[in-house]
This record gives sequence, C-alpha cells and structure tokens, in this order.
Amino acid sequence: MNEKKFPHLYGPVPSRRLGYSLGVDLLPFKTCSLSCVYCQLGRTKKTTIRRRQFFSEKQILEEIRDFLKTGTRVDFITFSGSGEPTLNKSIGRLIRKIKKMTGIQVAVLTNSTLLSRPEVRKELAAADVVVPSLDAATEKVFKKINRPHPSLQARKIIEGLVKFRRQFRGQIWLEILLVKGINDSPAHLKKLGDAVERIKPDKIHLNTVVRPPAEKMAKPLSPVELNRIKEFFGEKAEVVASFRKKEQETAPKNISQAILSIVRRRPVCLEDLEHSLGLTREELILDIQRLLEQKKIKMVRHLERDYFEPA
Ligand code: SF4
Repeated sequence: MNEKKFPHLYGPVPSRRLGYSLGVDLLPFKTCSLSCVYCQLGRTKKTTIRRRQFFSEKQILEEIRDFLKTGTRVDFITFSGSGEPTLNKSIGRLIRKIKKMTGIQVAVLTNSTLLSRPEVRKELAAADVVVPSLDAATEKVFKKINRPHPSLQARKIIEGLVKFRRQFRGQIWLEILLVKGINDSPAHLKKLGDAVERIKPDKIHLNTVVRPPAEKMAKPLSPVELNRIKEFFGEKAEVVASFRKKEQETAPKNISQAILSIVRRRPVCLEDLEHSLGLTREELILDIQRLLEQKKIKMVRHLERDYFEPA
C-alpha cells in the first residue's frame, strides 16, 4: 500500500472474519467515544461523541476506485481504523457510493455507541455486514472495560442494537471481547446473554486480549475459558482466535512502506505481516531490521510473542 497515494486506505489485511479486508480509515488518530482497556491503539486522549466530516468524501472514493484498479485481491471493503468510524458523518454516503462502484461487500466495525441515534442506524443500513461490539451489559462493567464518554450508557447502547437489528437486513456479527476478571463473571455473562437474546445477531464472535493492550492489567482468557463461554452462548457463538491462512496474490513492490502502512494501524506480529503481504519471513526480515534501526518501528513483547508497533 502506497501511503501517499492512498492515505485513507490500509491493507488488504488478513482479517479473521472478512478474509482480505481493504481497510478504510475515516478518522484522525485516535478519535473514539470509548477508551477500552484492551485497545490496541493505546488510550483515547479525549473521548468524543461529536460527529464530523474530517476528510473529503470525494478523495476517499477516488482512493478506493484507484486501489481497486490495481487488481489486488479484496474480499471486503471495511470501515475501521483509528477509532470509531461512525464518528465520521460521511459514512452513510460513502457506503452507498461504494456499493454503486463495486460488487465487493462492505463491512463496518463499530463500537455500537452511536447506534442509539436513528440517523446512524439508517446510515449503516446500507452495509452488507456490521460487526458491532458489546463488552458490557451493566453500567459498572461498561465504565470499567470501555471507559466511555460521560454521556454514554450501556443500557441505551443495547437498546440501539435491538432497534438496529429490526431495521437492518444484512448480517450482524456481534463481537464480545472478554477481559479476565472484568467482564467474564458468570453473573455478568448471564446479563450479556440476556442482551444478546434481545439483539438477535446472526453470529456471536468471542474475542480476548490477543494484541498488546492500552493497559497492562487487561489480561486474556485462556482458550479453555473461551470455549466454555462459547458453549454458554450457544450455536451462534464462535471463538475468533486465529486467522485462516489464505494466499495473497499480489506482493507489494516497496516492502518497507507496506510494513509501515500496516504497523501504523495496529500492532502486528511477523506472521500477520507474512499473511498480509503474501511474503515469507526471509523476504520481510531485512526491511523489518532496517525499520527497527531507523526507529520507525519498535518491537513489543506480549503473551510470549513479538509485535511491531510505530516507534
Ligand atoms: S477498541 Fe475500538 S472502541 Fe475501544 S477505544 Fe479502541 S478504537 Fe475505541
């Protein structure tokens, strides 16, 4: 990915759920209504619920059109990135215009906080897949795990999700990220289960802290614990733990720039880079070493794995 040519795009990155996902980032780093303890982008300096346009819609659409012309494999065009994408008020128009431009499916990863607003529900209704998060079913757990903007309430977010389900014809894959000792108690899981029953998602994706979190105290659940919780949520639930390896068809020409483009968005391990760029570790290692020496990236150890982050 050429960052100068495509400043609002990243990847295609291997997504656990969306195959080769071309990311569209509609936000300045890091713009979010939450400051989750597990966030891989670090703490949110100041949470916000104010929707703005931020960037030119025309430019974003031109970038997508030009990128698709390169013939790189893209399974999904996904709104995600440096915070909460629904904080960009262009999102509805952009989804509709992309749908006119290409047959590739459009997905939105959202923290669900703005789904209590009718206009946001209407805007997201044009997508094919919405992956909303819901980690908390009580105000106490919500404050602890998601550290929200003061105006937000878990109860209203759940109501927003219930209303969105009634309006939206596409797929809803509800993601629940579980943090040890914060939202995994049987009593809280029961409340989450009640909320899920009302929301009626098509799938329930169970996740845990697999990348370096904003707070060191955010610890993951073990695979055994996650599988036990999966049983509790029933047949729609699955543990989204590791990416299924797929072949990338087009290798990038400028490897260092491609690595930087991915690392800038999220911490990645060597295996992620191999999958994402369709290169072997031998092909990557020289550029990684150079970027480390130039202090453009740094290495962070988390759960016995090395991740690369911006330095
Ligand atoms: S994990 Fe998502 S919702 Fe939570 S703070 Fe980070 S960007 Fe915002």
